[in-house]
Amino acid sequence: MRFTRLLLWNSSLTSQKKTSREKTVTTHAPDISASDIEALAAADCLLVAMDFDGTMAPFHDDPMSARAEDGCIESLKALAAMDDTIAMIVSGRNLAQLREVTGLSEGNEAGIHLIGSHGAEPAGTGFTPLSEAQRELYESLAVAAEAAASLHPGLWVERKPLSVGLHSRTCDNKDVADQAHASFLSHAQGMDNVMITQGKAVIEVAVDSTSKGDYISAFREEHCIPTVVFAGDDTTDESVMRVLHTQRTDMGIKVGAGASRANRRLSGTVAVRDFLAQLVEARRLD
Ligand SMILES: [Mg+2]
Repeated sequence: MRFTRLLLWNSSLTSQKKTSREKTVTTHAPDISASDIEALAAADCLLVAMDFDGTMAPFHDDPMSARAEDGCIESLKALAAMDDTIAMIVSGRNLAQLREVTGLSEGNEAGIHLIGSHGAEPAGTGFTPLSEAQRELYESLAVAAEAAASLHPGLWVERKPLSVGLHSRTCDNKDVADQAHASFLSHAQGMDNVMITQGKAVIEVAVDSTSKGDYISAFREEHCIPTVVFAGDDTTDESVMRVLHTQRTDMGIKVGAGASRANRRLSGTVAVRDFLAQLVEARRLD
């Protein structure tokens, strides 16, 4: 399978990542088991990092109405309160949106690390402002996305701090949606120093190269975390699957169907909720 995150940022960086971190893409990763949960519960220090949309929260036509399955946030709070356990939500949403949909407002985050914009916007530290060149790229992308979105009222443009997204989830004409995406993609592919991500009914183009995988990799290194469990459903989450140490104790969980570099799988958001609840119980007992 060819991954749809097109790394146009820097060709030398791209080839470095591919050679050192290539993992087998599979559609056959087993479901997470009771013994997997026991192993995670027994880890000396554990990072539990979750994607939000499609992982903890079912998709919603109005993205701001999406909410995590009942119990997911509570389980993460319980994990965050335990010794040697770090809970994190890492999302492509910008941080302000992520706070709103998780109900974890500023200063009330219950110890859960909230990370927005694919790792570029961690709560508490903010992100580096765009350079002049990045601002120009951003405006050009926004104009191209708006032009593509004008093809149909169900298409819409999302402006995040570091990226512009063209969404088609609410467009009922697939041909027009494909045409709009192709137009925006073609514009972005003509630009240097942008990162293109093709997700579910969205093309997002960032003027910053940070990925969820980069963030989690740097975070675990900084905090010397031996074991990471991460769950995600979309192509952007593959950047994390790529950097996990799954040959050791890490577990990367692909949520839903589709090929992935993950070494475990869960069927959907309800299964994620149940997994988190079981992990809380098991780690409490351990
Ligand atoms: Mg997702």
